[in-house]
Amino acid sequence: MKKTLNDVNVTNKTVLVRVDFNVPIKDGVITDDNRIKAALPTIKYLVDNNAKVVLFSHLSRIKEEADKAKKSLRPISLKLEELLGKKVAFIDKTRGLELENAISNLKNGEVLLFENTRFEDVKDNEVVKFESKNNEELGKYWASLGEIFVNDAFGTAHRKHASNVGIASNIAESCVGFLVQKELEMLSKGIDNPEHPFVAIIGGAKVSDKIGVIDNLLQKADKIIIGGGMAYTFFKAQGNKIGKSLCEEDKVELAKSYLEKANGKIVLPVDSANNTEFKDSESNYSGVNLPDDEMGLDIGPKSIELFQDLLKGAKTVAWNGPMGVFEFENFKKGTVGVCEAIANLKDAFTLIGGGDSAAAAIQLGFSDKFTHISTGGGASLEYMEGKVLPGVDIIQNK
Ligand code: AMP
Repeated sequence: MKKTLNDVNVTNKTVLVRVDFNVPIKDGVITDDNRIKAALPTIKYLVDNNAKVVLFSHLSRIKEEADKAKKSLRPISLKLEELLGKKVAFIDKTRGLELENAISNLKNGEVLLFENTRFEDVKDNEVVKFESKNNEELGKYWASLGEIFVNDAFGTAHRKHASNVGIASNIAESCVGFLVQKELEMLSKGIDNPEHPFVAIIGGAKVSDKIGVIDNLLQKADKIIIGGGMAYTFFKAQGNKIGKSLCEEDKVELAKSYLEKANGKIVLPVDSANNTEFKDSESNYSGVNLPDDEMGLDIGPKSIELFQDLLKGAKTVAWNGPMGVFEFENFKKGTVGVCEAIANLKDAFTLIGGGDSAAAAIQLGFSDKFTHISTGGGASLEYMEGKVLPGVDIIQNK
């Protein structure tokens, strides 16, 4: 078990907090502040417990010097000030005397945010990736600015960067923040210690993106429902015709081997909603053999019924990847149907593993119907694959 905020004494201490303020910004305006809100419990706790709070985050990617003008955290410091109802000092540097002095002058309960950690990826127009490649000197330097490190950025926990792994390797004390703590508790309950029957639902565009998840969940789940674009590679593996649907030719053999070794654990759709082009217009329905001039863009009504039946009585459901092109009005029914089935479950632990399925559930109005919707796309996918997250692994154990 990783140390949490309740395991460290933060009073009077300078606490370095890696947060995930990687929010969408358009023309200098933050268009979605959910990630900032998600960091508030940890920040408020530190303020209330009289720590000196030093926050830092990445924002987007920095590939050249010119990117820096648009990728400053300054607008985020103002938003944070508003949400926190408290002054937040902003230092537009990632190192140097001005930053060091500002941190030394912090009083208990004060908050400082410094500049985008990925500014360290480009120096004098040269790509150096000090942050993204976990430069040793940078990790040591940042660690020297405080006494305790708190990792509360779940969205980058699958990365080995200077602002998480680098600092944690070079500081006396480290722990996870409340957001990461909750993510770990929920993912561990849903993936590592599920109550049975455990039904996993895997969808999305490609088999190749989800191989790790299928491998890991084949060992843990009682049933694995496969939908979305990847289902057509499986149809082909069964000898069906899939028309113009998405297919990864080089994964057909793999799909075949999954079906053989899964022993009935993998459940595929039994029909398909198709169109002649990749476009949002009225669908044609077919079974698992598609006409040559059509492509499958969603699961069909019989599959929705089948999946709804399979979900009845489940005690744990973990879902990653939509059942069809949910962005199209005419092809969102499969994803909505699955959302509804999960929403109707009584006494079940239901988890969405971030990314597109989280976006779909939120967009379709089901966000409060799940036990947990993970905030980290890549990080929760890697967790579902059974991989170790370096940004969490490096944090001290209790
Ligand atoms: P992923 O990020 O792998 O979970 O994939 C999500 C994307 O897969 C979404 O943008 C969907 O529109 C897309 N998708 C789902 N089903 C299909 C399909 N049958 N054909 C093409 N794209 C699909």
